Amino acid sequence: MQGLSPEDAAQISRDTRNVIRSLGRPIMVQLSAKTACPTCGGVDQTTGFPKNPLCPSCGGTGFKESETPVQIQAVVSWGKTNDLQYTQAGRLDVGNCRIEVEPMWRSYFEEGMELVVDGVRVNVVNIVASGFGTISRIIVECEKIAGQ
Ligand SMILES: [Zn+2]
Repeated sequence: MQGLSPEDAAQISRDTRNVIRSLGRPIMVQLSAKTACPTCGGVDQTTGFPKNPLCPSCGGTGFKESETPVQIQAVVSWGKTNDLQYTQAGRLDVGNCRIEVEPMWRSYFEEGMELVVDGVRVNVVNIVASGFGTISRIIVECEKIAGQ
């Protein structure tokens, strides 16, 4: 954008964040994490091997995969499958969705991860950082997982 002063750019950034804060609504994001298996006690610090290779709980790996739900304020737009037109209102013909969040949530998203948005399981297909000079929002593009 031409002729945009740093002050204007900063103002646009603030405006964008305020829009997300005011128009946004909470969505749940499932975060995966690996933790030590509580049944066998995980990996032996000295040997580096799982304490119980036959542990039925973790399959002998010493790790358990856990999913933690995190609530994020986001502007969510839904569109039809194979259609990049998004509407704020529509939950009919749910296919793709676009989530706009503040930059501080960037690290929570990665391509290929699964999210639950409005009760619909979607895959993250693309992540775009948007802004003038400074990044003011993160756009996360998602596709509905087939068979729901
Ligand atoms: Zn175990």
